[in-house]
Amino acid sequence: GPYRAAANRYATMQYRRCGRSGLKLPAISLGLWHNFGDDTPHQTKRDICTTAFDHGITHFDLANNYGPKPGSAESAFGQMLREEFAGYRDEMIISSKAGYLMWPGPYGEMGSRKYMIASCDQSLKRLGVDYVDIFYSHRFDPDTPLEETMGALDHIVRSGRALYAGISSYNTDRTREAARILRDLGTPCVIHQPSYNMLNRWVERDGLLDTLEDEGIGSIAFTPLAQGLLTKKYLGGVPDGSRATQGKSLDAGVITPEMTQALNGLNDIAEARGQTLAQMAIAWVLRAGVTTALIGASKPEQVVDCAGAVANLTFTDDELTRIDALSGE
Ligand code: NDP
Repeated sequence: GPYRAAANRYATMQYRRCGRSGLKLPAISLGLWHNFGDDTPHQTKRDICTTAFDHGITHFDLANNYGPKPGSAESAFGQMLREEFAGYRDEMIISSKAGYLMWPGPYGEMGSRKYMIASCDQSLKRLGVDYVDIFYSHRFDPDTPLEETMGALDHIVRSGRALYAGISSYNTDRTREAARILRDLGTPCVIHQPSYNMLNRWVERDGLLDTLEDEGIGSIAFTPLAQGLLTKKYLGGVPDGSRATQGKSLDAGVITPEMTQALNGLNDIAEARGQTLAQMAIAWVLRAGVTTALIGASKPEQVVDCAGAVANLTFTDDELTRIDALSGE
């Protein structure tokens, strides 16, 4: 029969204020970068997203280019919005982005006003919505004045195509500059989307987390599981069907004997905390003041596991020290 969201969907998830905005985001958000393209059956995509929503995951993160082929993740999610989530749009936060290559020629990527606004309109069409909740500049464009890219975000918000503006993977200096420009335009930068996990701590070294706190900008950490490394999946090798076997963004070469040993050490700490490794990895990024951890999933069961992270978000100093040592800090 038709999908009906679980009655208890708000019982366990935490909702956290995104920076100094009025927007609250679930502690765990779902991204549609992998597993939502034309190479995955629609039923699987549907099951992952409805399971997420049933567990209080109200935030779905997309981008123009997610697929393959580029655009197909937005089209698939648009189908779900029509079929499963038709009555739930106002309970959902839908995000999209423009920055990476989307169509040929000089206007199909980066940060010009021409590209950003055309791409946003394409995303709205694929999703079948009048507006997205958050629209991002997906990457900094060194060849376009930042005033122009931020001006495009301001226009996207003012014209009603998005409710909030965000930036992704901008470093501290560029973030400060982007935040100032957007503030002057009257459209605050509400959220920053950087990569962050135990094995990738550039946001700490760059001072980005402190900058975001200072500027009142919320944060959504992408690849909190290091694309699946920080789960039980790779403890005994590289299993069939895992991302590391797919020749995509996760190179199996990183899974060295030293890495496997470290992951097993981290898993021991997680077990002692009564958590799975995925749950501990999510809790670890949230401990740093990050608003929400942006996971991916190839199966609904993974979403359920990840959603369980909120049951234990605190760490002892001893746990943190041992995690640092095992993750090469
Ligand atoms: P993760 O680090 O969460 O990795 C997700 C993968 O981990 C899954 O596909 C699955 O791998 C595995 N996994 C997840 N949960 C479990 C579990 N409980 N047990 C075992 N394995 C698990 O994040 P992603 O790399 O998928 O990125 C998440 C999102 O971040 C993207 O969808 C996108 O929205 C965003 N992103 C943004 C970028 C940007 O530039 N702004 C760049 C990259 C990502 P498997 O497929 O092997 O089963």
